[in-house]
Amino acid sequence: MKNSFVGAAAQLITTSKSRRAAPAAEPYFAGQSSVGHSDYASALSRHGQQAQPAAAAAVYMHIPFCSSRCLSCDHNATVTHDVAAIDGYIDTLEQELRLVTDRIGTTRTVRQLHVGGGSPNYLADRQLVRLAGLIETHFSAVADAEISIEANPSRATPSQLELLTGLGFRNIQFEVRDLDQNVQRAIGRSHSLALLKDVFGNAREAGFRTVGMDLLYGLPGQTQASIQKTVEQLIGLAPDRVSCYSYSRRPEVFPHQRALDPESMPSLGDKLALFNGIAEGLEAAGYVWVGLDCFVRGSDPLAAAQTEGRLRRNWIGYTVHESNDFFGFGTNAISELDGLCVQNHLEIPQWQAAVKAGEFPVRGGVRLSESERARREAMTQLMCNMQLADYAALLEIDEESPRSLADYEREGLVKVSPKGVSVTEQGRFVLHHLWGDVSPRHRWDGVW
Ligand code: SF4
Repeated sequence: MKNSFVGAAAQLITTSKSRRAAPAAEPYFAGQSSVGHSDYASALSRHGQQAQPAAAAAVYMHIPFCSSRCLSCDHNATVTHDVAAIDGYIDTLEQELRLVTDRIGTTRTVRQLHVGGGSPNYLADRQLVRLAGLIETHFSAVADAEISIEANPSRATPSQLELLTGLGFRNIQFEVRDLDQNVQRAIGRSHSLALLKDVFGNAREAGFRTVGMDLLYGLPGQTQASIQKTVEQLIGLAPDRVSCYSYSRRPEVFPHQRALDPESMPSLGDKLALFNGIAEGLEAAGYVWVGLDCFVRGSDPLAAAQTEGRLRRNWIGYTVHESNDFFGFGTNAISELDGLCVQNHLEIPQWQAAVKAGEFPVRGGVRLSESERARREAMTQLMCNMQLADYAALLEIDEESPRSLADYEREGLVKVSPKGVSVTEQGRFVLHHLWGDVSPRHRWDGVW
């Protein structure tokens, strides 16, 4: 049934000027921005003068380092073998943390904390210990905080995994991309199924609550048959969460991607079919599709949250946590406070120079109005929970959109009923293209 929809979905995507998900290394705030470091400084100072908000915040820390560059990489990543340079980066992180906590204090409660990259587990043990200590010193994690880290499976040794759980990390997300050896070769990666079995087993033994992985569709050499085999192997690894992202080759942004053969890249229609194969395979194995692109076990709190209409999305990913207060540290990191969203400099030298000068390393940002925040809330609700009871804000978006709610309903992508607007099964396949023609301020475009 789903396959019959692939052609129609491809048509919709091709004919709309839809935005696609922007990977972490891409500037989120394109063009001129009137928002700068002093705006963020003022927002932090105001925040620090208020009573502790009821909802605990989220914190993201970016570690951009890797040992080598994958040809497909679309992350904010830097290849280095210079340990002193990494130490210097952590020194700057400490200074950036101090800049923030000088304004908001060190008792701000945090319910979600994520270390991403790059490959955060490229850090040496002593550097990981230092990083965890810095987080602990500057923020106050609540008892059931979700503390997670991204990891390159090829570098995850049993002792490192034990160290990470000992430092308080409870969730780990392995960057896998694909299990097919030909696809891995094409993108300059290498990790065998045997290695992944070991690593996933070691992570469970070390005590991680959730062991997750990512999977990309749209990589060179991927076919229906190869992705089906990958999904079968993946199911054997039994990850708790699978984040599934669409991949596009964009050498104008990431010059190293020129090494990928454009002829070997799946077409748009092929990509939709690949995703369809992944979704069908994982759902048949008992995984629940949550939000746009994530598959979790039925017992996962994200699955229950979606069923109950409580699932949310922030700059880290899907969550059950309510706060929109978000503090980001390191290159490329995004922060949000009271509707002010800012992004840090993308390059290490610029980021370091700003912090060393005592300035917030902001490259730009946007200030969302009340109405824009309400609209984004509506889109978040629809894209996380597939339903929206009060859709007044959605109708405001609709007025600006060349493609209307009535169009989407006629195409079978959404349904309007006395209960509100809901996304149909077909609509899920083009979720981030719905109302994708209008302002990015209505969406979590850095992550959708
Ligand atoms: S390991 Fe990940 S972040 Fe590092 S170069 Fe490869 S794709 Fe990029």
